[in-house]
Formats: sequence, structure tokens, C-alpha cells
Amino acid sequence: MDLYDGEGGAINVRFLEANSVRARFIVQNWNLETANSLRRVMLAEIPTIAIDVVEVLDNTSVLADEFIVHRLGLIPLVAKGVEDLLYNRDCECEGYCDQCSVTLTLNAKCTSSEIMRVHARDLVPSAGRIHEELGNPVITDPEGLGSCIVKLRKGQAIHMRCIAKKGIAKEHAKWAPSSAIGFEYDPGNKLRHLDYWYEEDPKKEWPIDEENLNLDGGLPTEDEPFDYNAVPTKFFFDVETVGGLDPDQIVQLGIQHLQKKLAGVIGELQGESADGVDFGGAQSPNMNNGYGGQDAGYTTPYGGGQNSVWGNAGPGGGTTPYGATPYGGGQQW
Ligand SMILES: [Zn+2]
Repeated sequence: MDLYDGEGGAINVRFLEANSVRARFIVQNWNLETANSLRRVMLAEIPTIAIDVVEVLDNTSVLADEFIVHRLGLIPLVAKGVEDLLYNRDCECEGYCDQCSVTLTLNAKCTSSEIMRVHARDLVPSAGRIHEELGNPVITDPEGLGSCIVKLRKGQAIHMRCIAKKGIAKEHAKWAPSSAIGFEYDPGNKLRHLDYWYEEDPKKEWPIDEENLNLDGGLPTEDEPFDYNAVPTKFFFDVETVGGLDPDQIVQLGIQHLQKKLAGVIGELQGESADGVDFGGAQSPNMNNGYGGQDAGYTTPYGGGQNSVWGNAGPGGGTTPYGATPYGGGQQW
């Protein structure tokens, strides 16, 4: 397999695998902080839909109400079209309505002498949803059943009305769009960020991801000097969905939300209040001639470039209000 151009250049992305369950890709010429930000946004800040309130009408199963309700909250629901759903807190209705929620009904009674299993597919969404598929239970098993919620024996019944709402995983993990995000850089440990504890031989005890290692140019040679100025530039992502959103959607929405957050920070630094910033539309600072003006959004209220409020501080030099520092100029820290 061909190697990446390691000589810098524009950010580029290459997909290694993309299907309905996972997306594996490499981003090159990026920095660790931003790459990790994207990982965290994808984990915690992409809105999805999950059951948030349950009205228990009947439950004569052996499991307590709370037990079943907790399970219901964790059932993945299809989140396609969730962007059109209002957050319940922003909706003008009292309680919940079709604009801010999806109602699913679970109603089962065992009448035979055999044990009855109630599955996710038995959750029936109500009519009047804003999007056809929104709120359907995610079902991926070959039998088309979904996860098992409870078992009933003869005479036992369960009847619950579940209100699914929009939310993010920062609030509760049930809204997480992704079950796991693999994130790796420097698989050969050339940068020595990971010198693991070991008993006898770290090479035997800590297996290396061979595929990522090959894509990163292999292990360092024995006599290769340690470059302590090196920084990671190549990041391996592995995004796995729980089924509510496609993996590529998770990545795209992650980028969108990260852009929105950064735009918000830039807006705040420019002295615009959060009310004046349009959080509704994701906008990259690099697009449309920069966020909010002609300066591509990078100028702080303290002036552009090297000038601090204390006057002109050259690179590495620096004059404080107390005069020149004893550390001299030209020294790069
Ligand atoms: Zn509402």
C-alpha cells in the first residue's frame, strides 16, 4: 500500500473502510488537539434521539419498573431527521408534542404457557412523526427482533408509553451516536508518548496494530535518532455506530459541530455576545471570507499577530511592563 506524503501540505483524509456499521479513515497533516477535539465531539455532542420519559401503565413482569425503564432508555433509535426535531426545552408545548418528541408504545401480554420475549421491535412509534423513520428502534439482527427488553410468563403483561426526545451524550450516554471511536497516532511509538509498563518485554506484551503501523511507515530502525521536536501529524480514526446514524453522518456532523463551537469561540473573542452568533448554521472560519468579517476570524480583540497589549513583542523576545525580561531575545521555548 502506498504511503502518505509526510512532507506536510494540506489536510487530507483517506477512507480505509466505510460501511453501514463503521468508518475507518486517516487524517493527515493535522494536529493532535484538533483531531482529539473531533473525537470528543463525535462521542458526546451530536444530537440523537432516545427514550427519556416513560409512563408505566402496567407492569406485572418480574422486573421492577425502573429496571425496564433504564433498558428502554438505552435502546438505540433511528436518528435520521433528528435535526428537524426541536429540543424539548425549546418547544412551546407543555410536556411534549410531535415537534419535540416521538412517542413509542410497548404493549405485550403473555397468554400462552411458553415464555414470551418482548423485543425492541415491539416498540410501536405513533403516527404524526416529523420524519418517517425517526424514532424507529434500530434492528440489525437477522431475525429482525432487536434487543430483548423483558421476558413474560403466562398472565404477565407490560404496557408502557415511552417519550423519546432529542439530546446529546454530554447529558446522558444513551444519546451517544457511536458505541466506540478508535483513535490512534504514531503506532510505532516513535514520539515516545506511550512507553508502557511491562514485565519482561514490552514488544511481546503490547501488541502493535500492524495495519496502522504499515500505513505510518513501519517501526523506527534501531539506530534512528530520537527526534524530540517531532509532533504527530497522522491520525487513525475508527468510528462505530450504534445504528441511529450512519458512520459517515457521525463524522460529518462531528466536523459541523466542531466548526460551530469554534465559530462561537471566535465570536466571543470578537466581543459579540452569544446571542449575536448564529449557532444554527455551521460555518467554517475559512469559508465565506471568514467568520464575521474580513480577517478570516483569527484576530483577537488585542490586535493581530505578535503585538500584545504591552507593546510589540517579537518572537521569543518580549517586553513586559517591568522592562525586558532577563531571559533575552531569540530564545525559542
Ligand atoms: Zn413540543
